[in-house]
Amino acid sequence: MLIITGGAGFIGANFVHHWLRSSDEPLLVLDALTYAGNLESLADVQADARYGFAHADIGDRSAVAALLAAHRPRAVLHFAAESHVDRSIHGPGDFIRTNVQGTFELLEAVRGYWSGLPAADQAAFRFLHVSTDEVYGSLGPTDPAFSETTPYAPNSPYAASKAASDHLVRAWHHTYGLPVLTTNCSNNYGPFQFPEKLIPLMIHNALAAKPLPVYGDGQNVRDWLYVEDHCRAIARVLQHGRLGETYNVGGCNEVRNLDVVHTLCGLLDELVPKADGSSYAAQIAFVPDRPGHDRRYAIDARKIGRELGWAPQETFATGLRKTVRWYLDHADWVRHVTSGAYREWVGKQYGAG
Ligand code: NAD
Repeated sequence: MLIITGGAGFIGANFVHHWLRSSDEPLLVLDALTYAGNLESLADVQADARYGFAHADIGDRSAVAALLAAHRPRAVLHFAAESHVDRSIHGPGDFIRTNVQGTFELLEAVRGYWSGLPAADQAAFRFLHVSTDEVYGSLGPTDPAFSETTPYAPNSPYAASKAASDHLVRAWHHTYGLPVLTTNCSNNYGPFQFPEKLIPLMIHNALAAKPLPVYGDGQNVRDWLYVEDHCRAIARVLQHGRLGETYNVGGCNEVRNLDVVHTLCGLLDELVPKADGSSYAAQIAFVPDRPGHDRRYAIDARKIGRELGWAPQETFATGLRKTVRWYLDHADWVRHVTSGAYREWVGKQYGAG
């Protein structure tokens, strides 16, 4: 049994699907269902006997402890977080509460559970912390890519809160012996991503005939990884990762934001041509840059390749095409997760909104 915190979010939901496709082992999603958590992303596994859901906040130590005691997992995979950089600029408090305080409470609940396990189960237990390359800060155009030994230099409240959580996880290993693993991954894209992040936002706005907002000069570079490749990396680290180690995960796809948007527009021009024959690229609108906007991220993923034999299967071209097709085929999902009706339902069901 695995417990997946944040399993109703973008990467968590993809991981749930990936796991249930490739393993018989049951899992329990533990999620507070914030605006970013959507049970609709798990609709097609609801009836699977191996799947369970618990509405809980990682910051509620006693609720988490009760779930651990009831379900007795052999691993906790920690995806739950506030994850959107722009939101962290306008309201950093939630990021400190969930990513820092929440991770602390979760670690304490897990430590309590783990320390009560029989010795063999203690040795086999894993706490896998899912983190980001943003903890390393920003690169210049010719700097080498981030490796696992690059010093932390977070620049946004989001990155700082994730850096803090990485340090807590590390300390719980060195101080208490908790068997932890950490992954630091580059930008993900793919199905079930909330349409506030670059790629789904651009698809959504393009189809709605709205402007495609590009920050600053659009020259900021990100490394892009198809989410299924990230899920495969996490499963590999869970199974074979060395305790206490961190693994960088990336796609070797450094692309400028403006090029991402142009590529998306080209795909949409091909798949859903506009009646007047114009390109979606005409909707691109440059907007003032995000404060503290990191210029370039690049990941050196050689360690996970060398030690665990992981390599991405999708290129940016194949992954992006799959992603655009997915959003075109799942217009209902987009409508539901962005509509007030879904938030209302969560409020009624769980008393949260
Ligand atoms: P997301 O925002 O889509 O999902 C986060 C999930 O966590 C949601 O289901 C939300 O309801 C849940 N959650 C939030 N606060 C919670 C709390 N207090 N208690 C319980 N559940 C809570 O995020 P994502 O993009 O899927 O990212 C998942 C993890 O991967 C995060 O830790 C993020 O830092 C990391 N990461 C993301 C990316 C990326 O490109 N999206 C890249 C590298 C690492």
